[in-house]
Amino acid sequence: MTVGIWLLGDQLNKNNSALSSCITAKKDTVILLIESLNLAPLTVYHAQKLTLIWSAMRHFAEDLRSEGWRVTYAINDDTEMVFQQWIKDNQIDELKLINSSDRGGALDFQQTVNNTNFTGKINYYHNDNFLWQKDDFEEWAKGRKKLILEDFYRLSRKKFNILLENEKTPVGGKWNLDQENRKPPKKNIITPPVLTFSPDQITTEVMQKVAKMSSNTYGNLNNFNWAVTRQDALKVLDHFIAHRLKEFGTYQDAMITNEEFMWHGLISPYINIGLLQPLEVIKAVENAYYNSEEIPLNSAEGFIRQVLGWREYMHGIYHHVNDDYGELNYFNHQRPLPEFFWNNSKTDMNCLKQVLKQTENTGYAHHIQRLMILSNYGLIAGISPQALKSWFHSAFIDAYDWVMQTNVLGMGQFADGGILASKPYASSANYVNKMSDYCKNCRYNYKERSTENACPFNYLYWDFLGRNEEKLRSQGRMNLVLKHLEKITPEEWQKMRQNSALHLNL
Ligand code: FAD
Ligand code: SF4
Repeated sequence: MTVGIWLLGDQLNKNNSALSSCITAKKDTVILLIESLNLAPLTVYHAQKLTLIWSAMRHFAEDLRSEGWRVTYAINDDTEMVFQQWIKDNQIDELKLINSSDRGGALDFQQTVNNTNFTGKINYYHNDNFLWQKDDFEEWAKGRKKLILEDFYRLSRKKFNILLENEKTPVGGKWNLDQENRKPPKKNIITPPVLTFSPDQITTEVMQKVAKMSSNTYGNLNNFNWAVTRQDALKVLDHFIAHRLKEFGTYQDAMITNEEFMWHGLISPYINIGLLQPLEVIKAVENAYYNSEEIPLNSAEGFIRQVLGWREYMHGIYHHVNDDYGELNYFNHQRPLPEFFWNNSKTDMNCLKQVLKQTENTGYAHHIQRLMILSNYGLIAGISPQALKSWFHSAFIDAYDWVMQTNVLGMGQFADGGILASKPYASSANYVNKMSDYCKNCRYNYKERSTENACPFNYLYWDFLGRNEEKLRSQGRMNLVLKHLEKITPEEWQKMRQNSALHLNL
């Protein structure tokens, strides 16, 4: 009997559940990996993302072969034909598939299998990219009025016994140390080094292929220096723990010109495709805290909260919500995406220019750059949430549907009307000026909101609040902010609205 395992580009974990189930039957098992744009839902991707995925897949196939697995690696856009041929050539009796991280992905996958009229047994295996499987999350969500991250995170800490004393109370006495985190950047701050990897022969060949696909790509390919193997991804994790974890918490929200990575982990590209597993990342950070006096609790807890809390919660919510979640548009924002999102030279707003420039160069921006610069602008400028989500998907090296819907639509755009966030993440230039040095070198004045030189983040912010006052009042948590609307004179309103209209070319 021959067992076939078809692995997708985000299932590159050698210990995944499907492979593990065949570990003693390698000679009766065949594995398929297909390098194809057909398995991807978009037409444009960051050139570095295509390079990362395809190079990681090719390395992974080599790795599996060197361990005695029988692997077919196909480079072909006709995935259905490849799949059919593979089934026939190997006379496969049983198929083993891993539950897909993305909803669309799972359907396409299923469709391809159905179209082949495969009559053998099909077994689905759990997705090792996450600690909480869909059914576990459903069990937690059942009967709850609100799905609150903090509740989910505390339960996750207990479920996996992370940073706990006597398996129940949080180390240090508090569950949440956010108050010690999120400090603005200090003057002349020195950021830690970044671990980079020169492209090897396999990566160079992929880069040559991707370079010829300019109509399908965005961003700068030449700077590619991400890890593409598990061994190197583990080095990134070790390097983070040795050089960045100590200050991670303190500066996790800070932004500095030309400092792309700050104290962040840089692990999302790897953990999202299976090169790193969530529990090993969490355990490595927990151990570092226990074994080194250098690592403060606020940083260790702050980081673990991201992976064990936010990442698992976002994935759980994505599979929990209704099918139409991706189409929701609470504020009915319909404006098309401004051209400068594709080309940073077309904006003179320094914060946006800096973050877009770094995204073009690396495929990466950290959480606050994504949320409070790019997404915040989209929200207050009234850009269609779906257009913005599609751009995020094309622009980032770690983007997948499961993480985009919840982060861009739910958290960033409040398009779900509050299923995920308790209020919209909208802010004026005050926040940008407090948390970054961008405003110092900007032609706009971050203190002004109605003059000619006023910062667009200011007048767009007030215009957004004014336009949506009624909807925002119904959210409760916005009432304090909305009180300020009453203090704005009719003349100032008029100037701010004129500025907004001019800025948005209305
Ligand atoms: P660190 O700051 O070092 O954090 C550690 C890890 O925590 C991350 O690697 C990630 O795995 C996890 N994490 C933290 N917050 C989240 C979150 N909200 N959702 C999911 N995982 C989280 N993350 C992606 O993986 N892919 C995306 O395409 C993506 N798009 C985003 C878009 C918006 C508008 C926002 C607000 C957030 C987005 N995030 C996305 C979440 C987060 O910004 C990135 O995971 C993080 O910036 C990745 O960099 P890092 O590994 O250096 O993270
Ligand atoms: Fe951004 Fe406004 Fe600051 Fe310029 S002044 S960097 S546009 S927030």
